[in-house]
Amino acid sequence: MASKSRWADTEEDAVVAAKLKKEKEEKKRLKAEKARRSEAERQARLAAQQQTRTSAEEDGRPQKRRKTTSEPGQGEPNTERDGEVKLLRFPSRSWGKCRSVEKYDCLNDIAEGTYGMVSRAKEKASGRVVALKRLKTEPMDPSGLSVTGLREIQILRDCKHENIVDLQEVVVGDDTSKIENIFLVLEFFEHDVKTVLEYMPEPFLLSEVKLLLYQLTSGVAYLHDHWILHRDLKTSNLLLNNRGRLKIADFGMARYVGDPAPAKLTQLVVTLWYRAPELLLGTRTYGRSVDMWSVGCIFAELVTRDPLFQGSNEVDQITKIFELCGVPTSETWPTFRSLPNARSLRLPPKPPPAAAGSVIRARFTQLTNAGCALLSDLLALDPDRRPSAHEMMRHRYFQEDPKPKPESLFPTFPSKAGQERRRLHEPHAPVRGEEAAELGEVDVTGIFQGRERQERGAGFQLRMV
Ligand code: ADP
Repeated sequence: MASKSRWADTEEDAVVAAKLKKEKEEKKRLKAEKARRSEAERQARLAAQQQTRTSAEEDGRPQKRRKTTSEPGQGEPNTERDGEVKLLRFPSRSWGKCRSVEKYDCLNDIAEGTYGMVSRAKEKASGRVVALKRLKTEPMDPSGLSVTGLREIQILRDCKHENIVDLQEVVVGDDTSKIENIFLVLEFFEHDVKTVLEYMPEPFLLSEVKLLLYQLTSGVAYLHDHWILHRDLKTSNLLLNNRGRLKIADFGMARYVGDPAPAKLTQLVVTLWYRAPELLLGTRTYGRSVDMWSVGCIFAELVTRDPLFQGSNEVDQITKIFELCGVPTSETWPTFRSLPNARSLRLPPKPPPAAAGSVIRARFTQLTNAGCALLSDLLALDPDRRPSAHEMMRHRYFQEDPKPKPESLFPTFPSKAGQERRRLHEPHAPVRGEEAAELGEVDVTGIFQGRERQERGAGFQLRMV
């Protein structure tokens, strides 16, 4: 008989209490049994995983990747929703070990740039002609680790677009510990746009300018869509073949940016003549519009064959920009006063009403109204007012006549790439690690009288205070 409970007054109570106790004990036993079974299953699963891993290692197969992201609604933070930066990456082309540079015969040097020497070469096995770009150490970095070179490889490997130069492989010399022994094998292009502009007997037709500008913009749109800033767009970095195809090259200054962009980007980017006013005024938070400014400078250069703003230093550069685009005011560029170097500017007390559009129309008489409107939009002092690459491609300038010339009808030019090394008549791209020059004080109070004097033939006098 069941033992009597303290609370059981009667025999009947004692029976009920004993029954309850028995049920409780049974529940406890079942729970313990369940826990033991699930522990045994867990152990079995672990053993099975261990077994799979060991056999995969033996086969040389990679281990299964650990899942690091959570499904929406699973309780873990969704980085995109929380506004944190999420790195968006392309699936990279995977290459095995790099081949030797000995697979190629060097034909001749094409040009020496800031970060590398480019040669024309032929693959021995196939006879295919390519451009070989030998990476150089950066002057500021004798350790041999070239951040620009590594970035260029990473970004070019990720990009695949008809207006971006194709990186075919990376080859190496004997001593791979030296950056000079790393070579990019690029598709070979007969010309760069700068050399063509210098040597062509007649300027491009407007339909040809339109084709080149459209291709450039399409390449830039691709880069910006994929979170890449080029940061050194200029005519010598645009390659052209004899079938009317333009491609963007030289990604030594390029970098990935997130959204929002990192707060402190390098200020010293973009070759001086193509550098946007916000960079000259010291901003370190910039975005795609620095590339769009350079696109504007290139547009003007394609029309006139001369670089638009040929400043001899930063002060001269910003002064030349203000001469064409007007000086900044709180209407044309509401935030310019907050830029680090804005305090260095001495502006005219009463600047004439913003007349960038009319100055551009007077200077670019070859362009239609739509062409001038697009150029003034690209050369807006306020970066927020410049169009994006996609907006630009939809601009009426590209819809109206003359339409962009078909690539197949584009003229051909004698290639300079098989001849002596090209010498570039332009400032070098900024060198990584160097500090941006102090802007010093810029007095542009007399800028518009200066222009009148210049028009009268007296020449504009720049005053550096
Ligand atoms: P850097 O980064 O050292 O400035 P670039 O990539 O700008 O070097 O190349 C320098 C020059 O070499 C270009 O202006 C162009 O004339 C030539 N070049 C570069 N890539 C090619 C190519 N794929 N085909 C033909 N010429 C090229």
